[in-house]
Amino acid sequence: MEKNEISGQRQMEFLKKFDYIREAGTEGEAKAAHLIQEELKELGVENHIEEFSFDTFQINYAKLTVTEPYHKEYTVIAYGRCGNTKKDGLQAPFLYVENGDDISLMGARGKVVMLNNRVDAGMYQKLVKAGAAGFISISGTPLDEGEDLKPTAYRLPKMSESAASRLPGAAIHYKDAIELVTKGASQVCLETDQETVTRTSGNVIAHIEGTDKKEEILTLTAHFDSVPEGPGAYDNMAGGAIIMELCRYFHAHRPRRTMEFIWFGAEEKGLLGSQNYVQVHEKELAMHQFNMNVDLAGQLVGGTVIGVTGDASICQMMTYLAHEAGIGMSTKHQVWVSDSNSFAWKGVPAMTLNRDGFGMHTRHDTIALLSDWSLKRSAELLGHIADRLGNIETMPIIRTMPEEFVKELEEYFA
Ligand SMILES: [Zn+2]
Repeated sequence: MEKNEISGQRQMEFLKKFDYIREAGTEGEAKAAHLIQEELKELGVENHIEEFSFDTFQINYAKLTVTEPYHKEYTVIAYGRCGNTKKDGLQAPFLYVENGDDISLMGARGKVVMLNNRVDAGMYQKLVKAGAAGFISISGTPLDEGEDLKPTAYRLPKMSESAASRLPGAAIHYKDAIELVTKGASQVCLETDQETVTRTSGNVIAHIEGTDKKEEILTLTAHFDSVPEGPGAYDNMAGGAIIMELCRYFHAHRPRRTMEFIWFGAEEKGLLGSQNYVQVHEKELAMHQFNMNVDLAGQLVGGTVIGVTGDASICQMMTYLAHEAGIGMSTKHQVWVSDSNSFAWKGVPAMTLNRDGFGMHTRHDTIALLSDWSLKRSAELLGHIADRLGNIETMPIIRTMPEEFVKELEEYFA
């Protein structure tokens, strides 16, 4: 490919238009989708938006009050998908159970327990089994000050238990957690309230038809939604900028195979945009050769990884192509938790280009930490791979999905 036609500065200029929170189903996300479409229109690339709706939780309030042996209200944030307490709250004894080991949990029955880490599906089941009445998990660090003293908004995974039978839970900041234990909190009142709401998100899809192998499709994808905590520059508007730069390039240098560029919505809500895409386009998936996804990109200090979910030979192929491009990277052969999973789940070989960096899912994930040097390099690497695969005579990507990945993906999407 013509490397000199890839610009890091142009990607930065594009990114500056998205320095705001783009939580799925909110105005921010809709505004971003519109801006992506505007840019494509300016480039003269055919595009459309595919909307879909999804159910999510809306947290109304959460409060933790210590009532014995002292009285104080603490700032907490309710877990998404946790249970609601009754109107006057859950009054219960309090117990710190560290990492939720079996010994500590022996005394948990009927109590609001505080744990060191985020409660995942496994820990949630342990808490239910131990008879806990509710839970508090600790977030943040002892170094935090000011705005960072806000606890993290966690969510429970989707569960079969009805909302009414779930345990109420919330996150508290590290410093407050220390105070609860040192001041000997023994009795608390936990209040949580949330409801399920239906929201609309969408995928922006641009289509560049291949010149002579148009029935073979390659996808270049990146999610453009963010978490509610911050404007998600690194995670993942940077990925959105990289594929926009490549869309511009391949519009000017039309490949033999068809390329589809997709900006997915609602990735942060559980890969919802890409799941909607593979369902809506199920009949065409047999034409899909390879998904090239980008998630987490653009920071200068970091390493580049290509996570391949497909045949092991694809790792070698990616390494070979990176050598050709003269760009350092390493590969991982595994199921990657990003939109590439939705393709792999449907049998389409997939990869995610990923760069490690700082501040994902926090208010610190802003364009201030992004670098045009890094954006240019990643766009060159992905562009080189896409250029080769887009124009090579016979597609070298083997379609077989390793048995263990098939199993893991089935479990993931169940
Ligand atoms: Zn992401």
